[in-house]
Amino acid sequence: MELIELKKHKMEDEIYICAQCGFCHEVCPIYEEIGWESASPRGKIYWLKHILKPGPLPVIEIDKEFANRFFQCTICGHCSEVCQTKINTPELWKAIRTEIYQRGLWPDVLNELIEALKKEKNVYSMPNDERTIWAMDIEEEIRTKVRKKAKVAYFVGCISSFMGRLADIPLSTVRIMEHAGINFTVLGSEEWCCGNPLFLAGASSLAEEIVRYNVATLCKLGVETLITTCSGCYRAWKQEYPEILKEDLGFEVLHVSQFLAKLVDEGKLKLRSIDGVVTYHDPCEIGRHCNIYEEPRKVLENIPKIKFVELPKTKKDCKCCGGGGMLKATNPELAAKIASRKIDETTEVGANILTSGCPACKLNLMDAIFEREATVEMLDITEVVARALGS
Ligand code: SF4
Ligand code: SF4
Repeated sequence: MELIELKKHKMEDEIYICAQCGFCHEVCPIYEEIGWESASPRGKIYWLKHILKPGPLPVIEIDKEFANRFFQCTICGHCSEVCQTKINTPELWKAIRTEIYQRGLWPDVLNELIEALKKEKNVYSMPNDERTIWAMDIEEEIRTKVRKKAKVAYFVGCISSFMGRLADIPLSTVRIMEHAGINFTVLGSEEWCCGNPLFLAGASSLAEEIVRYNVATLCKLGVETLITTCSGCYRAWKQEYPEILKEDLGFEVLHVSQFLAKLVDEGKLKLRSIDGVVTYHDPCEIGRHCNIYEEPRKVLENIPKIKFVELPKTKKDCKCCGGGGMLKATNPELAAKIASRKIDETTEVGANILTSGCPACKLNLMDAIFEREATVEMLDITEVVARALGS
């Protein structure tokens, strides 16, 4: 059987070069949780090979069950990191998701997401003019920033904008900017979703309007540096946008941890010590996908007398939190089980503050902490820094 999208994305060869060695088994969070060969990267590639060139096994139908299997993946990239034949598995998983989308077999929740993006330009289907709801306690202050000309723009992202439980991420970012004397702008109701859910779900063809709109809106404000606190937004802006535009954006894009590291270098953050033992979880989309490992550690290590400990697996070996790749939307129970393992890792190293650089990580890990009634505190890196500023 032909898999058109695999052919189009030049991914068929990737399937044939898989040596079925199983190195990827060891690191896949989905396989670790489900334990079936068919849930592992190796098993999934075996299926695809069998579809392309049917062997003695029964014919595999491309149906809803098949589709669900390929959404049991966080696109964490860990399998690619250890793959001895260097298969670009994240691109492979996204291509097969595109095939699933083209065949009308997407999980229902993703069809709802497309409707939300079309109608309201955010993933929650909330009125987009409520995008600054996170700033309700600093309404006056933020009003002076919305759509004002500035060299620095803060792209808040859907999750931090609308999920009240995550409002401390943008609030902390604003606090840090003010402490460092940075003049910045936010787009408010003119900010549209970055489109990352579409890229991850295999529908990048639907994202072009979003990409062009967001870039044009920022360019009109004379922006030279765009800061994101979301690792998914960052990866989208950094990797997917130039791919769609076929040219540079015209401004630099920084994850907030890179921006904070710059502020540390420039001596613009007067940090004080904080209580507790802190550890750091590397979000997949800034870590394995974009190689941002040192900057967040540099920021944390510059907090005087900080008690910082590393998790058992870090940087390119860091285990996924389970919150990415649309798993939280399509299979929240599985996402929560994976997050629970991260809480075990945190307590294992004696930390009581778990930090990261992504609202999606924070959300999923907070859910696991709540579920387990654990005593770990989950803070975004911006919140840790704001705490060290004394706010
Ligand atoms: S590590 Fe690579 S080559 Fe080995 S089974 Fe996994 S995908 Fe195939
Ligand atoms: S990207 Fe992550 S979750 Fe998906 S198959 Fe690879 S290791 Fe497993």
